[in-house]
Amino acid sequence: MDTPVTTPRPVERLLQGQATSDGAGVRLTRLLTQDLQRRLDPFLMLDLFGTDNPGDYIGGFPDHPHRGFETVTYMLQGRMRHRDSAGNEGLLVPGGVQWMTAGRGVIHSEMPEQEEGAMEGFQLWLNLPARDKMREPWYRDIPLGELPVWEADGVSVRVIAGRSHGVEGAVQREDTQPLYLDVHLAPGAAFEQPLPDTHNAFIVTYRGEVALADTVLRPRRMAILANKPGSDGVQLRAGPDGARFILVAGRPLKEPIAQYGPFVMNTQQELIQAVDDFRAGRLA
Ligand code: FE
Repeated sequence: MDTPVTTPRPVERLLQGQATSDGAGVRLTRLLTQDLQRRLDPFLMLDLFGTDNPGDYIGGFPDHPHRGFETVTYMLQGRMRHRDSAGNEGLLVPGGVQWMTAGRGVIHSEMPEQEEGAMEGFQLWLNLPARDKMREPWYRDIPLGELPVWEADGVSVRVIAGRSHGVEGAVQREDTQPLYLDVHLAPGAAFEQPLPDTHNAFIVTYRGEVALADTVLRPRRMAILANKPGSDGVQLRAGPDGARFILVAGRPLKEPIAQYGPFVMNTQQELIQAVDDFRAGRLA
């Protein structure tokens, strides 16, 4: 077990995100927008997609490039097919995680493998340290059955990355030490997780409500947790209907961030190089 949390972090800010569309017209909510990249370093973006309307997702994300960071897709409902220029292919199904390290470059597509029904999930972008931005691409599909889980009274936690209550997550990263938990709480159940006060952290609810001290977080909202010096974690409690949420935290890289669409590097010069490499076919 982890040591009990005695000085929980307060909520710094509540956000509802921006409605936008990406890929070939996929409608989504961007919760971690570009103006929060410094505040939530090492995380660069978080999208929540969730709809019963095929018109909102059917276009999918046809071939597009990435360089310089990692993408983590977590499916809650629906099926998406991934194909990339490194020869990887995988089917994302409910409860599954896809972790892709773009490194020096990947061209991939993420297309719905259904014509009706609900599609719901998250895509998180995690930055790479400068020295790893041009590393070889890496890819892993983690089906639900392979995700480490711990359970206690009214609490069930899937440990996608990092470590929680003695359970080692599916993915570890040394430099950014990402923690990515999917937490399911029964009505009124309490949950806590130790966090270093220097790590940036946020919560996004996707079912029900949770309370952090006096702050209530409604469904599909993000709470940025304050980096209060001396705090040792997060504590919260589900509302009367229970709750499901993700908790994401990581160690900031504190390096310059330069972004041009799907490329995230440290300098403008490196972005120009990325665009040149893409146009010249050197990313595939
Ligand atoms: Fe992509």
